[in-house]
Amino acid sequence: MNLNPINLYDLSPADLETLMRDWGEPPFRAKQIYRHLYVNRIQDAQEMTDLPLALRQRLADETRFGDLRLVRLSTGDEGLTRKALFALPDKAPVETVLMIYPDRATVCVSCQSGCPMKCTFCATGKLGFLHNLTSGQMAEQVMWAARELQSFLNQPHASPHNQKPEIENQNLTNIVYMGMGEPFNNYDAWWASVERLHDPTGFNMGARGFTVSTVGLIPGIQRLADEKRPVNLAISLHAADDALRSEMMPVNKRYPVRDLIRAAREYTRKTRRRVSFEYILLKEKNDSPEQARTLALRLREGAPEDQALLFHVNLIPWNPVPGTPLSRSDRKRVLAFQAVLKEEGIPCTVRVERGADIGAACGQLAGTGG
Ligand code: SAH
Repeated sequence: MNLNPINLYDLSPADLETLMRDWGEPPFRAKQIYRHLYVNRIQDAQEMTDLPLALRQRLADETRFGDLRLVRLSTGDEGLTRKALFALPDKAPVETVLMIYPDRATVCVSCQSGCPMKCTFCATGKLGFLHNLTSGQMAEQVMWAARELQSFLNQPHASPHNQKPEIENQNLTNIVYMGMGEPFNNYDAWWASVERLHDPTGFNMGARGFTVSTVGLIPGIQRLADEKRPVNLAISLHAADDALRSEMMPVNKRYPVRDLIRAAREYTRKTRRRVSFEYILLKEKNDSPEQARTLALRLREGAPEDQALLFHVNLIPWNPVPGTPLSRSDRKRVLAFQAVLKEEGIPCTVRVERGADIGAACGQLAGTGG
């Protein structure tokens, strides 16, 4: 294993320039290397053929191209969902999921190995907290997905009834931070990864292509409201009353429902951007029509009458997690819940499921590789 001190994916363009200056190289070398990493997706200094041999050798000797070792690749949904289980140098697991659709492709990125939030319904919570990931370890997951997508699209397509996806430039269209961990619990590294992947001289993902999902850490929501880039925000709500939400999500004791929704409202006021609330449906726990009505009430109270509600609810059929006494709501309950929200004027969609057959769906990432 390469244990050179510098992970190239951890470096911003400015950091790379500093490194080149320290090495006595002209600053434009930094731009060349950044391009190789994020546009050409190269992972070996020897392939950077427009660099002088001595510089290639120095990169090989003193830097490393990432930290993640692929342990297992699982595929589901006829190959259109692809989950990677990686190991960090100390063997801690990191999972990344690539989801391919007819006209777009999304990568679901982990920002921690394990998670400290202990939500009762989530497999990652059961694993406990192992590590914060660095910005480079997050960027590296995205670059894996970009390469994986490209090689998948260039394969001859086996099943004729499956139309070959038509994705612009064969590149990822969305990056969602919804894998293992809590992004706002690792805010600086998370945001640095957004900046890195957004950089137009490199990967060039548009700000609106990013979505971050939080368990509801209010300081993170407030910080995001002040960032310049309009990334999308999703908040895991899952229950509209405090007793139930605290039981399901210990974080609710620190940031209860009303405070959280107030913070979300302040965020929409400041940014004029929509917030999406995630709500998993658990049979006879949080899925009754009365609970849908309470949810609608909480989302509407305190909203200015003359303004469109910038809130949206994303209903997520719960994916089974072994060792929990929970079960998923059936389709009828899901649709009834949705109907109440619609009746109450709350925009609402039901999430299309992906990856449940390989343990790659929401809340199933537990480092076991499926
Ligand atoms: N920590 C962040 C992001 C990771 S989870 C957060 O809590 O938002 C991404 C989404 O999957 C969250 O909404 C999470 O609550 C949800 N989730 C967790 N376990 C799930 C399960 N078993 N089935 C469906 N969704 C689940």
